[in-house]
Amino acid sequence: MPKNSGKKQQTKTSAVKTDRSRLAFLTDVKNKLVKEYNNLTARLGSLLSKGKGLWEEHGAKDEENAAEVAEYQNRLSLEKNLEKAKSEIEEALKKVEAGTYGICQSCGNPIEPERLKILPSATICIACVQKSRGQ
Ligand SMILES: [Zn+2]
Repeated sequence: MPKNSGKKQQTKTSAVKTDRSRLAFLTDVKNKLVKEYNNLTARLGSLLSKGKGLWEEHGAKDEENAAEVAEYQNRLSLEKNLEKAKSEIEEALKKVEAGTYGICQSCGNPIEPERLKILPSATICIACVQKSRGQ
């Protein structure tokens, strides 16, 4: 649990209730993260096995090679994106374990639950995203 600094007026009853709903929330988040992680691992695996075949079927003409190189580069960037998403999920899972999940890395405030529902691996809150976009 994060430190409830600045929320000292909270009563014991509501704190217990918060803990329980937070626990349920974290369990839900963890399930989603693991599912997404497995999904990414599977996609990465199929991408890598396709990539191997690509080079074996090397085109004889330069034009074909150019197209294959472009496709290979697309795969590489997709692979990078998948790896990045995976490491973000790993970080999020570590935070769940450490009890710091859902805390904005930038301002230290809780990240909006609506945002976490859509993007469970989010590390900064909506306000900070908007700030970084210069809005
Ligand atoms: Zn923030």
